[in-house]
Amino acid sequence: MDFNFYMPTRIVCGKDCVVKNAPLFRTFGKRALIVTGKSSAKNGSLTDITTALNANGQEHTVFDEVPNNPTVQSVRKGAALARSFGADFIIAVGGGSPMDAAKAIAMLACQEAADIFSHPIGKDVLPMVHIPTTAGTGSEVTPYAILTNDEKETKQSISAPSLFPQIAFLDGKYMENLPQHVTVNTAIDAISHAVEGMLSQAAGELSDALAREALRILFGEYECLRKGSYSPESRQNLLYGAAVAGMVIANTGTSPVHTLGYSLTYYHGVPHGRANGLLLPAFLEHCLQKDKPRTGRVYAALGMGAEEFSEKLALLLGEREHYADAELRSWAHKAAQSRKKCAISFTEEELFAVLKESVGR
Ligand code: NAP
Ligand code: FE
Repeated sequence: MDFNFYMPTRIVCGKDCVVKNAPLFRTFGKRALIVTGKSSAKNGSLTDITTALNANGQEHTVFDEVPNNPTVQSVRKGAALARSFGADFIIAVGGGSPMDAAKAIAMLACQEAADIFSHPIGKDVLPMVHIPTTAGTGSEVTPYAILTNDEKETKQSISAPSLFPQIAFLDGKYMENLPQHVTVNTAIDAISHAVEGMLSQAAGELSDALAREALRILFGEYECLRKGSYSPESRQNLLYGAAVAGMVIANTGTSPVHTLGYSLTYYHGVPHGRANGLLLPAFLEHCLQKDKPRTGRVYAALGMGAEEFSEKLALLLGEREHYADAELRSWAHKAAQSRKKCAISFTEEELFAVLKESVGR
C-alpha cells in the first residue's frame, strides 16, 4: 500500500449545524465577509449564518455579486470589499460558483496577483468557512477554485493547500427548494468526481475507498434524482456524497472529462455537472478499451456495466446537445494541451472520438 492523502478541512454535518456550532466561527476574528450569489443564500442559510455571527458579537458584510462560472473581475471586486471592510475571514455560501469565488477572494485580499492564473499562491490567505447549498462540486473540501479565463477561452483552476477551507458545514435543509435541474446536474458532477478520481495517477487505497463510498451514497439516491422527489434524508445524503467525492478529487484531481466539459460550458453555457455527465459514459468506455483492470474497478464501484451506466445517466440528462465536428476538433485540441493526472492517456484524436460519440452531430 502506497498513498499520500491530505484533508485539512473540518467537516460538520447535520441539520442546523451552523447555528448549533456558532462558537466555531469565533476563532477566525471579528469581521466576516459573506460571499454568495444572487439567490443562493435565500434558503435560510444567510439567516443561520447571521444568527451565529450575532451570537458571537461578530460583524459581517455581504458580497452577493458572484456570477455562475465566476469571473476574475468578480473576485477582484469581492477582494476589494474584503480589504475595505477589513475582513478577518470569509464565509462562502452557495454552490460551487460562490465557494470557488470565495477562495480567490480570500487569496486576493492578502496577495497582489497581476495574473491570477500564473500567480504563485502563498500561505497568506484569509481563513474560510464554506457552506454548500448545492450537492455536487465538493468545493467545500478541495483546494481548487475554478474561474473563467477569457484569454484562453476556457475555465481554469487555481490551486494551493492554503485554499482549503478551514470548516465545511453540511446542512441539506438549504437545498429544500433547489431546482430539479440543478440538483441533477450537481449530483452528476459528484458522480463524475468519484469516477474520475479512481482513474487518476494519484489514486490510492484511501481515495478509492472514498470514491466507492461516494458512488454508493449517490446512486442510493438515484430514484429520487430520476423522480425529482427528495426527503430531507436524501438531500443530506446527496450533500454528504458530494463532499466525500470532493475529498477524492482534492487528492487525485479530475480527468479530461472535466477539461472537455469546460469547453461546453465556456462556449455554450452547458452547466458544469451536465457537461461532465454528457461525456463521462463514452470516456469511460474508451478507458475500458485501454486499461481493463483499472476501469473494471470503476464499473465494480458503480455496481453496473457500461451499458447500464450510460442508460442511467441518459435518463437523468434528457435530450442531449449536439455540436459540429469543427467545434469538437478545437475542443479536443485544447484539452490535449492540458495536463491532467489521469492514469490513462488520451490522444487528441481519441478525445475527439469521445466528444463525437457524446455530443456529435
Ligand atoms: P452554481 O453555479 O454555484 O449554482 C447554480 C445555480 O443554482 C445558481 O443559479 C445558484 O444561484 C443556484 N442555487 C445554488 N444553491 C441554491 C439553493 N439552495 N436553492 C436554489 N438555488 C440555488 O453551480 P454548481 O454546480 O454548484 O457549481 C459549479 C461551479 O463549481 C463551476 O464553476 C465549476 O467549474 C465549479 N467546480 C468547482 C470544483 C472545485 O473543486 N472547486 C469542482 C467542480 C466544479 P446563484 O446565482 O445565487 O449562485
Ligand atoms: Fe466538477
